[in-house]
Amino acid sequence: MRMYDIIYKKRMGNELTYEEIKFAVNGYVNGEIPDYQMSALLMAICFQGMTGSETFNLTELMMKSGDVVDLSSIDGITVDKHSTGGVGDKTTLIVAPIVASLGAKVAKMSGRGLGFTGGTVDKLESIPGYRTSLSPTEFLDNVRKCGIAVTGQSGNLAPADKKLYALRDVTATVDSIPLIASSIMSKKLASGADTIVLDVKTGNGAFMKTLDGSYALARAMVDIGKSFNKNMRALITDMSAPLGMNVGNSLEVKEAVEVLSGKGDPDLYEICIALSASIISAAFKLEYTEAESRCKNAISNGSAILKMKEWISMQGGDVTYIDNPERLYTSPIKVDYLSKTEGYVSEINAESVGIGSMLLGAGRKTKDDIIDLGAGIVLKSKIGQYVKKGQALATMCTSNKDLVSQCEKMLDSAFLITDIKPRPTKLIHAIIE
Ligand code: URA
Repeated sequence: MRMYDIIYKKRMGNELTYEEIKFAVNGYVNGEIPDYQMSALLMAICFQGMTGSETFNLTELMMKSGDVVDLSSIDGITVDKHSTGGVGDKTTLIVAPIVASLGAKVAKMSGRGLGFTGGTVDKLESIPGYRTSLSPTEFLDNVRKCGIAVTGQSGNLAPADKKLYALRDVTATVDSIPLIASSIMSKKLASGADTIVLDVKTGNGAFMKTLDGSYALARAMVDIGKSFNKNMRALITDMSAPLGMNVGNSLEVKEAVEVLSGKGDPDLYEICIALSASIISAAFKLEYTEAESRCKNAISNGSAILKMKEWISMQGGDVTYIDNPERLYTSPIKVDYLSKTEGYVSEINAESVGIGSMLLGAGRKTKDDIIDLGAGIVLKSKIGQYVKKGQALATMCTSNKDLVSQCEKMLDSAFLITDIKPRPTKLIHAIIE
């Protein structure tokens, strides 16, 4: 078999066999196939696409290129949730305790933030003492005892994806539905849960900017998961504006605690309930409305916040910060961003707010950057609200006053104030089974 022939076959739009994909993937991971040939194949895939069976085979080969976590020693139904990433997306911190308080077992490996999107591991590290790295035995023990463990990605999960993703990133080949779907699903399948719920974000602050693209990605991932006999759901949720009011690591933990305490932003609450209800209905084969009412009760009767405290404490975190979230560190310099005009807030561009927050120190421009866990943006206005000239639209928090003006420029482009009241945007576009 020759890589040249495989590239040519794909370039001509023909379907690759399992053996051909295996030859390419394994050869690339072993260093036998050079970057330039793999780049050519990836580009051919971007133009020609992949059939369902090719996408399934690619996913399986990437998943099997490393460890596959064995969760079979855990009694009960293991669940996982994945978000394609967004601005202010702290849903894992809220959904995990809701569903665990209802009996699901959350065994979750999460990522760090990069660029304008945040990562759950960074958010959790803003809780003093919280350990994001557990041994495999501790990880499983914690899931058995309290129903939740959330760590950083450890071990050797889908190394083929890691290598291919790095190459895609520099060869303009990220943007392909079968490549994205197989990349995400290879890691989710390697993480071992029975039920997987995907939150596919759509809009300017999301990886997928269009609704059509988001549908296609969600469908492709659900199909892959089902072929592996997983219980799958995907939600398509809005990311044209930041989710909730706080963007930045410790700020987002505070907001997550507020929602679990029955307060907090109604949009964030709605999305978290939809994600949790999707997990519970898929895991326990319940009607969605029944699952939804159980999830709402878990917040109103206090069991979800109790579960959060148990989880944080099991992973070494100091729960007094959950009891009193205002004690969580916030960066000392706080500057209001003021409206330049009077009118309705018609747009709060998620991508611009995400970049602004990153510039204040809350995010990484490159993966080795050190972040300021207390930095970020607190929104003081919502879409549809009428604001006066000079009214605070947001507060910028940082440890370095020189960063404020850079963030201000991003906020200038984030906020659109108009005379006409905007129509409300849909938060949840679809739930795909
Ligand atoms: N996230 C991933 O893990 N893989 C992709 O290809 C894109 C986003």
